[in-house]
Amino acid sequence: NPTWTAYEKAITELEGGVATIAFSSGMAAIAAIFGTTLKAGDRLVMPSDAYYTARMLASGFFQTLGVEVQLAPTAGSAQRDYLEGPKLLWLESPSNPNLDVCDIALLVEAAHAVGALVVVDNTTASCLGQQPLSLGADYSLSSDTKVTTGHSDLVLGHITVRDNSLADKIRAWRTQMGAIPGPMEVWLAHRSLHTLDMRIERHGKNALTVAEVLASRTHVKGVR
Ligand SMILES: *Cc1c(COP(=O)(O)O)cnc(C)c1O
Repeated sequence: NPTWTAYEKAITELEGGVATIAFSSGMAAIAAIFGTTLKAGDRLVMPSDAYYTARMLASGFFQTLGVEVQLAPTAGSAQRDYLEGPKLLWLESPSNPNLDVCDIALLVEAAHAVGALVVVDNTTASCLGQQPLSLGADYSLSSDTKVTTGHSDLVLGHITVRDNSLADKIRAWRTQMGAIPGPMEVWLAHRSLHTLDMRIERHGKNALTVAEVLASRTHVKGVR
């Protein structure tokens, strides 16, 4: 579909990768990563504070299929202590909803040293705020339902890779599982990219103003 191709090309440029595969939702993109990398007996290391539905898919459906799921917090890059032979390291930084962060480059290096693939769920930062592929990750994943498109008028996701062989597997998964986005949604998403830079700048300014007000109040115990 030419509308997908145009959107995927634009996202690939922003992510600094070689190929993007658009999905019908962020969860469809997440399922595609699990489905194309994990089989019975494989180990997945994932943040204990990762997006709730992603954790439920891993510790529900995929654990039932025989995948071993190890959880560790995002804060303090705690997943580094659990890198004994995982097939896949899952990162989400900043995490949703607690906004903890980890050192992506450090964790990628440690994971690659033991032969693991690394995916970053980059939904919260968006591809303009952070480029996980430039930090060494194999996959940058996003729910484009959120910051990327920002108008609350569509549901969409994407995966961008640095290696075309990973892209082929994901594209085949999308076709066979039917996790294809509608062309209208993709067109709306492409339109939304025109305001991404301005929206991110305004998000940051607004959030900082709110954070400063809250931090100045004595009855507020903590601000993330
Ligand atoms: C919302 C969200 C998802 C899931 O995206 P949908 O498009 O709603 O399926 C995945 N990861 C994170 C971090 C999210 O915030």
